[in-house]
Amino acid sequence: MQKLIDGARKLGINLNDKQITQFKLYYQELVNWNKKFNLTTITDYQEVQIKHFLDSLTVTLALTKEELRQPGFSIIDIGTGAGFPGIPLNIFLPESRLVLLDSKAKKATFLQHIIEQLELSHAEIVVGRAEEIAHQPLFRQIFTLVVSRAVASLPTLVELALPFCQIGGEFVAQKKGKIKQEVIQASKAIESLGGKLKQVKKIELEELSDERYLIIIDKIYPTPEKYPRHPGIPVRRPILGGE
Ligand code: SAH
Repeated sequence: MQKLIDGARKLGINLNDKQITQFKLYYQELVNWNKKFNLTTITDYQEVQIKHFLDSLTVTLALTKEELRQPGFSIIDIGTGAGFPGIPLNIFLPESRLVLLDSKAKKATFLQHIIEQLELSHAEIVVGRAEEIAHQPLFRQIFTLVVSRAVASLPTLVELALPFCQIGGEFVAQKKGKIKQEVIQASKAIESLGGKLKQVKKIELEELSDERYLIIIDKIYPTPEKYPRHPGIPVRRPILGGE
């Protein structure tokens, strides 16, 4: 795990022995399960350390150390797939609550196995579509941090993610490549859902030099009850426009 250890240090994270063991186990299980289930195209040992594990940990750059360690800190990962970025974040912050949300039951089977193997006692899995789960009072507007990687374009993603975020909390979307247009197009969705764009932060790490960004959005107002709209609508008819 040397590549991950070195990279994490550049993010200000010193992984302890327990965390390194957890990442090793996560890697082994990911590659094993991947033979039967389609979980990831990245399976090389070095590559997983960088493109999955370290990349997930870059989310921590969106918050201060104090914010990350505040009591009651909670995270929901929308469309987590094989657990990215949620599980690496929970390995780093084992005391925080983590909800892993995905619409595919197959992914949940793997995730359940992982949280048991890694003994992540504050992690839980929810199977369902964000459009529906976001209307349940148990999950609506309660999370300090909402994260999501590689799920949808930003205008769609904002509608799926911001309803989960508490007022004063943040939504951090991990994005790659040319994102300027996407961010401009999401302005209206951000405002309609009760958010305010805080920052577009470029990841400055030689390990991840292929133009990766964090789109950091503050939740400043409650999300109107009508959002998110019915399953499929945020993808088919995203709220577009702005600036
Ligand atoms: N975040 C992971 C997986 C990305 S693939 C990673 O970066 O590796 C996108 C995942 O989002 C899939 O597992 C898919 O099932 C899930 N997904 C897509 N739309 C969703 C929705 N509306 N609600 C919940 N999960 C969704």
